[in-house]
Amino acid sequence: MPIRIDPWGAAIPENYTRLMKEFGIEPFEKLLPRIPDPNHLMQRKIIFGHRDFKRVLNAIVRGEKFVVMTGLMPSGRMHVGHKLVIDQLIWYQGHGADIFLCVADLEAYSARGVSFEDSKKLAVEEYLANYQALGLDLERCHIYFQSRSDAVRHLAFVLSKRVNFSEMRAIYGFAGESNISHIFYPMIDVADILHPQLEEFGGPRPTVVPVGIDQDPHLRLARDIAARFQKEFNFLLPSSTYHRLLPGLMGEKMSSSKPETAVFLTDTDEEIRRKIKDAFTGGRPTAAEQRKYGGDPSKCRVYELYVYHLLPDDEKLLEVRELCKSGKMICGECKDRAISLMCGFLKEHRAKYKRAVQNAKRLAEKLS
Ligand code: SF4
Repeated sequence: MPIRIDPWGAAIPENYTRLMKEFGIEPFEKLLPRIPDPNHLMQRKIIFGHRDFKRVLNAIVRGEKFVVMTGLMPSGRMHVGHKLVIDQLIWYQGHGADIFLCVADLEAYSARGVSFEDSKKLAVEEYLANYQALGLDLERCHIYFQSRSDAVRHLAFVLSKRVNFSEMRAIYGFAGESNISHIFYPMIDVADILHPQLEEFGGPRPTVVPVGIDQDPHLRLARDIAARFQKEFNFLLPSSTYHRLLPGLMGEKMSSSKPETAVFLTDTDEEIRRKIKDAFTGGRPTAAEQRKYGGDPSKCRVYELYVYHLLPDDEKLLEVRELCKSGKMICGECKDRAISLMCGFLKEHRAKYKRAVQNAKRLAEKLS
């Protein structure tokens, strides 16, 4: 049975290898030797796959122009899982990318019923300010709201001429009760991805979209449609990279709507402590057993926090792994270390956020 990927669903894909085969996604690690200064997300295989990334890599290596397209859906609070994409944007910005950052307020309205006014406030105060506090230079990004971009909406309509309902239903599983905004929304998403290649936005150039694998249907549709409009727009087919989503603290998907699954960037020290203390681990039922047999970091949500965010230094990460596997460190101790690192990181982050929020508001006022 084919694997269905649902960009609006809540399941974590279990078998990435099978998904890669089924959807023609290539292993990212094969490109590592050519990548200048790869970051820890690339080296630790958190970015595990790509489609056609060589085109973008060639541009990076040759110092040519390229685009990174990304979006944020302002529907909840920002958590550490979201930071994963920002770390990638910062890396690309350091390598000369033209970054297009779309506030997906049409998607928030269509999929979650968030009003445009609430979207704006959330996008600016919760997301853009945090992005800047994390180190992204917003002044060097093309930031726009979907609802206010005539170019994106016009392109979505033009492109939709060569897409039919059967195709959309086959990709997304739409049914009779699906509302029309939900059915049309993928066309907006495709237009987001392709519009940086319109002449008025810089013309055709390599474009990469860093996503979780759940977003792949949009990417495949964007490539198919780009090919159908070659004659009119001369689009280069967009490339994509795929990262493993940071799993939730309790075992399931990290989600803004389930506070116990995620550490939010605005959490207090007390909330951080409670959430990490309650997190699912790869430890043994008793301390004595763990000292004797060791723990299993591959099943542990706390270890994932170290891998994704808390310990970018490989040596320190390996040390935690060894201490866990040998039973020399048990979960209570290990969690205390993660809590201390997370609280330290977020204390610094909160100070940067305070400085960033005014700038984000000022910037948003100037946006179309
Ligand atoms: Fe996880 Fe740390 Fe416990 Fe090992 S010792 S299972 S890494 S919390």
